[in-house]
Amino acid sequence: SVSHQMQNVTILGATGTIGLQTLDVISQHPDRFNVFALAANSNVKSMLDLCSTYAPEYAVMLQETAAIELTAELKSIGSKTIVKHGEVALNDISAHDQVDIVMAAIVGAAGLHPAMAAAKAGKRILLANKETLVMAGNLFMQAVIDGGASLLPIDSEHNAIFQVMPQQRTKNLSNATLSSLGVKRVLLTASGGPFRNASLQELKIVTRAQALNHPNWVMGPKITVDSATMMNKGLEVIEAHWLFNASPNQIDVVVHPQSVIHSMVEYIDGSVLAQLGNPDMRTPIAYGLGYPDRLASGVSSLDLLTTARLDFCAPDLIRFPCLRIAYEALNMGGTAPAILNAANEIAVEAFLAEKIGFMDIPNTIEAVLATANIEQVESIEQLVAIDAHARLMARKQISAL
Ligand code: NAD
Ligand code: MG
Repeated sequence: SVSHQMQNVTILGATGTIGLQTLDVISQHPDRFNVFALAANSNVKSMLDLCSTYAPEYAVMLQETAAIELTAELKSIGSKTIVKHGEVALNDISAHDQVDIVMAAIVGAAGLHPAMAAAKAGKRILLANKETLVMAGNLFMQAVIDGGASLLPIDSEHNAIFQVMPQQRTKNLSNATLSSLGVKRVLLTASGGPFRNASLQELKIVTRAQALNHPNWVMGPKITVDSATMMNKGLEVIEAHWLFNASPNQIDVVVHPQSVIHSMVEYIDGSVLAQLGNPDMRTPIAYGLGYPDRLASGVSSLDLLTTARLDFCAPDLIRFPCLRIAYEALNMGGTAPAILNAANEIAVEAFLAEKIGFMDIPNTIEAVLATANIEQVESIEQLVAIDAHARLMARKQISAL
């Protein structure tokens, strides 16, 4: 068997759904990967568990009180893991000299800075945090190129597209157009979420619990609500734009309820290449960790006879206005996608807190975008300010409901 150099991995968002699945895959390859650092927001109990299992060099909690608690708990079990806290520490473990791979799996805009730090430090970045590309796509892609980093998309659709894209695109990021590579368009598949067949009247009164009940994927609460509104697909359209240099009219969405085809690339000769598999994020995670090698992931074989059917239909932009609004923000360009993202985070938070209804999510986002001043993207500092302002506007909008 081939011997590999051990690779050190930092996992941002270690206690989350993607973080835990990453640790599951890593556990299957102890000869290949070492858990160097784990980071999370505030869940001390889960982090303590992970530290005693994986003995990382560093554990970072965003919250200081959580870090103090974790330090005491680790001391009592004789752990050597060093505990840090705060945003700077997140950047440090992403850019650390000893780190080879960074799994960026924090949810939301909070994931932007550490992902940028990993890009500048030239790491292999496994990008689950799509919000980074939605907010700061051009700056992040440029940082990846300038830093000599490599970027492996973990979002299942983008991972699928990456697998069937020409290697001229995936091996070196450039401004080459998709058509110059023989690609006509990319097709993002969407499950349609729990409300695929709900009427507009029904959508107005769906509950938090119904929205959190996704048919095909087990995910964190924010992305689960995004899937229910189809904003998730909208964010993914913007993500695909930056990852693959695809213009908005080269990105199509098709609803595919079985989630077996994870996405497709259509070439100019009429060939359509697809990546299929069971809906289990350990497949894209293993792909990102092992690339260009293939690693076992623990995902069971796709049983096409049980699947039996693959269905497709067009997305309904009347019932799912978030997808339309996301395309509009992408076409507006500049800071519009960052504003969309911030307003969406606030609206989803309010929906999860049962302060607004389901259809208030698109209404809030659309209202914030309609009054926003769209600028050219110049810097991360500018985007951070725009993000804060858009959150303020979204909160105002919500309290006026
Ligand atoms: P999750 O809610 O399960 O986990 C989020 C993780 O981020 C937790 O570990 C939490 O502690 C940490 N976190 C949250 N805020 C933080 C902050 N301010 N600073 C530091 N850490 C913070 O979410 P998830 O489902 O694992 O999703 C993570 C990211 O991956 C999201 O951007 C999501 O869109 C993307 N993604 C997830 C899936 C999936 O199947 N779950 C699929 C595709 C993409
Ligand atoms: Mg996805």
